[in-house]
Amino acid sequence: MSLLQLNPPQRDAIKYVDGPLLVLAGAGSGKTRVITQKICHLIRECGYDARHIAAITFTNKAAREMLERVGKLMESRELKGITVSTFHSLGMHILRQEAPHLGYKTQFSILDSYDAAKIISDILKSTHKDEVRKVQSRISLWKNELLDADAALLAADNEFDRICATTYSAYQATLMAYQAMDFDDLIRLPVGLFQTHPEVLIKWQGRLRYLLIDEYQDTNTCQYLLVKLLAGVRGLFTAVGDDDQSIYAWRGANMENLRLLQHDFPALKIVKLEQNYRSTARILRAANSVISNNPKLFEKQLWSELGLGEPIHAVMCKDEDHEAEIVVQRLLAHKFEYRTEFKDYAILYRGNYQSRVFETVLRNQRIPYQMAGGQSFFDKPEIKDVLAYLRLIANPDDDPAFIRALTTPKRGVGATTLEKLGASAALFDKSLFASASEPGFRVQVQDAQLKPLEDFCRFITSLQYRATREPAGELVMDMLKVIGFEAWLYDSEDSTKAAESKWKNVFELVAWLQRKGEADSKNLIELTQTIALITMLEGRDEGEVDAVHMSTLHASKGLEYPHVFLVGCEEGILPHSESVDNGMVEEERRLMYVGITRAQRSLTLTYCVKRRRAGEWLFVEPSRFIGEISGDDLRHFGKKGGEPIVSKTEGKSRLANLSAMLGSKVQKTDDKDS
Ligand code: ATP
Ligand code: MG
Repeated sequence: MSLLQLNPPQRDAIKYVDGPLLVLAGAGSGKTRVITQKICHLIRECGYDARHIAAITFTNKAAREMLERVGKLMESRELKGITVSTFHSLGMHILRQEAPHLGYKTQFSILDSYDAAKIISDILKSTHKDEVRKVQSRISLWKNELLDADAALLAADNEFDRICATTYSAYQATLMAYQAMDFDDLIRLPVGLFQTHPEVLIKWQGRLRYLLIDEYQDTNTCQYLLVKLLAGVRGLFTAVGDDDQSIYAWRGANMENLRLLQHDFPALKIVKLEQNYRSTARILRAANSVISNNPKLFEKQLWSELGLGEPIHAVMCKDEDHEAEIVVQRLLAHKFEYRTEFKDYAILYRGNYQSRVFETVLRNQRIPYQMAGGQSFFDKPEIKDVLAYLRLIANPDDDPAFIRALTTPKRGVGATTLEKLGASAALFDKSLFASASEPGFRVQVQDAQLKPLEDFCRFITSLQYRATREPAGELVMDMLKVIGFEAWLYDSEDSTKAAESKWKNVFELVAWLQRKGEADSKNLIELTQTIALITMLEGRDEGEVDAVHMSTLHASKGLEYPHVFLVGCEEGILPHSESVDNGMVEEERRLMYVGITRAQRSLTLTYCVKRRRAGEWLFVEPSRFIGEISGDDLRHFGKKGGEPIVSKTEGKSRLANLSAMLGSKVQKTDDKDS
């Protein structure tokens, strides 16, 4: 390794290994680079065994990328046993070994937020989505503050909180009965475990001796405690972060953790990085000028040697269809002019729902694109059907998985039988699976219904036996054949095309299990827990393909693209109206800052004059954040006094011409849902 491609403060940060270190710096200043190079330094120069190092990032994608980057610096044998993961997967890793201390078995299930919401809506006896969501996020915030249900009830000082706290208590009991955990538990429970079982903590402190944490500004109280406990008195860690990029307050992220670090580790050394290696001076100036409207926590300066660069384009569009056409048209024209590749472009937006119009236009023009932060592959209904089987194989106490698997495909077990089975299970305090498989626990179920139930349980039991012995992919393929999943898809879907596309997805899941099982030598049960962690935030890893990146601003954190279109820069969207109402404009401004600083060479901001909301056209205002960029750095298109923007019809024909010119080289990579 050479420390040459590093500036002096970066080098300082890497060489300082004897105590706690915080690297506090703006976007694109090489914080993540410090982490990857430091891993190399720790192993090669300081004699650390890779098994004793844990690097923690915010998303699975970031973790994968980090491992890839380190893989380029070092040989794989040197990295054997290293932990590079998200907080959640680190927590899961710990719990897989230690769960019995907490009354869980090691094969616990992990519920995604959809399944968790279902439990909450059952408890509330409400199908009101908004209500359920509110209660769910209240519980989540408590969990992240490490308050259990009793403490929450004590602290509750209004009717809503009291309802939430009682729901929390019932919810937790249900999770325990299912031997299931939600995402928050994956971090909360290890923290609780370490606090109550010092011998377990000591074991893990010995196992993970040096910690590196990326995107530190987004840690919440619980995650911070996990770091603090693991680091212990030795405090051997490097945290890197940027307070201006803290965008997860809504999930309990607490910027105070930056200050807390100084308080809890008085020996904390702070390194600041000021040179930006990502963006042109103009892009940086725009970012700095927007963020200067927020109060400062820490003083930071950022400069770049990458030249002044092009002004930032601000494009006014008529409506959302027009916006998508204009963006794609500009993208194609730019690509043609500069001979770039599709993967050099990113379209970033505030909310997932905004992507649909862009997808339509991209698809029409046969432009390949990759989505991040959209509906995850693992959230597709057909995939969740198959996953229900896998969850049940891993953990027969997982009642939601039992119901989904038993009824998909239908096995002639009706709702009445399920209800009676549920009543028996409650009576004997058993899981549905246990009630179904043991005659003594299903007193109320009629004889005629017993056979399909027994067959099902026997089938699952045989799969459980095979799960730890056979390769995951083959086993699942076998299982799908036995249950006739493909035929069922074709029977139950309206069109053959829809069934085909679903079966293709299932097939892809099987291939993924096969690959992943071999690569990480994991069996089906271990893989099932891993899948649960691939959350809504990330989508599927599609590897290096030449495709336009589409991403929410949240999911774009830490990444960089040569050319960025930041769309929907309007009041109500960015800043989001809910945030404006709740006095959270500063967080929205940080989100804008994150968006601007993803761009390396060019940045285009677009906004509409009117937008459809709940079926009605509303006139909207350009985002206040555009106004916070200095006029010298902006070029306006489409608005009065600005440069002309091609009209809708002209735009369409130009678009068609351009894409015809480029078309021969274009292949389509993403035809999901088509
Ligand atoms: P963010 O805040 O967005 O996460 P960051 O601070 O983590 O950004 P990096 O992603 O590590 O920044 O680096 C930004 C870009 O600058 C990367 O392309 C990286 O390879 C490059 N870079 C970092 N340090 C140097 C350096 N000393 N010399 C040349 N290039 C560098
Ligand atoms: Mg980074």
